[in-house]
Amino acid sequence: MSGSRVIVTGGAGFIGSHLCERLVADGYEVLCADNLSTGDRENLECLENEPKFHFLEHDMVRVLQVSGEVDAILHLASPASPVDYLRLPLQTLEVGSVGTRNALDLAYRTGARFLLASTSEVYGDPQVHPQHEGYVGHVSPTGPRSVYDEAKRFSEALTMAYRRERGVATSIVRIFNTYGPRMRPYDGRAVPTFVRQSLERAPLTVAGDGTQTRSLCYVDDLVEGIARMLHRGGTGPVNLGNPEEITVLDLARRVRDVCGSDSPVDFIDRSVNDPSRRVPDITRARRQLGWEPEVMLEDGLERIVRWAVSVRREEGQDRAQ
Ligand code: NAD
Repeated sequence: MSGSRVIVTGGAGFIGSHLCERLVADGYEVLCADNLSTGDRENLECLENEPKFHFLEHDMVRVLQVSGEVDAILHLASPASPVDYLRLPLQTLEVGSVGTRNALDLAYRTGARFLLASTSEVYGDPQVHPQHEGYVGHVSPTGPRSVYDEAKRFSEALTMAYRRERGVATSIVRIFNTYGPRMRPYDGRAVPTFVRQSLERAPLTVAGDGTQTRSLCYVDDLVEGIARMLHRGGTGPVNLGNPEEITVLDLARRVRDVCGSDSPVDFIDRSVNDPSRRVPDITRARRQLGWEPEVMLEDGLERIVRWAVSVRREEGQDRAQ
């Protein structure tokens, strides 16, 4: 796709920064638009001297004016971890509604393809396992997590309306729990929390009795799935996630083992509407994109731990200077 120009909203975040790197490597010219509310320019350090990469500090709640041709807009801008969206409830609803509308309007004006990064949270606390794309979900519209879940459901509805009413070429991917380097140690998500606690030899805080499950996809696999969706151009929604389930307690112990830590486990209260089971049916992704995750959990955990150790070492050196 050499010569094509794409916009990645939310590109300074965890997934967005890996996606920007991949798209630049694939030959795209990439414009990243991000308001840095939960993202960080440091995530894009490796692209700093890359002539095909451009960063624009921009809040997607405001209209984005871009001159020249745009081939695709990948819309990832949104707080994504519970800690962030519970801290930024109104901003989360705004970027999911007004922000998504601005991104779709830009796609309409420029004739660009539009790809929405939706989420497994649209299924809420699901009553059907595994979750296939035809399942309409079990979501509380008023619970604390609703600011994120309903914002993403609205984003999906808006995306489909722009497709039906305005003829915008749209794609929707529903991303399940993803992990990898650049997750913030205090973002509240299970993997970075257990990594931080294990490395600090602090108690591993496991919510409830830890029997609730998660399915974890390594970020490189996810980015491959998004890239395939962009190239193949299907409407979706398509689930992208790892169908292998693991209990939260087992995950805590696996992370601890990879870190070579002896942290004890501390059971804490579960948060409201925390889903008990979350596992994707990826039949559609396999069939339409020829995609499935390849990185084994053990391998992915080793990679994120290696990265976290190197960041801690650098921070230690900075403090010592
Ligand atoms: P992240 O918080 O690391 O990245 C989100 C980025 O969006 C940040 O850089 C932030 O600054 C930016 N942003 C937020 N509001 C904005 C606004 N109004 N205007 C411009 N930029 C804004 O989160 P992430 O984990 O990288 O998630 C990226 C996307 O993937 C999100 O849309 C999220 O809903 C989706 N997703 C992530 C996961 C996961 O497991 N990480 C799972 C499902 C869906």
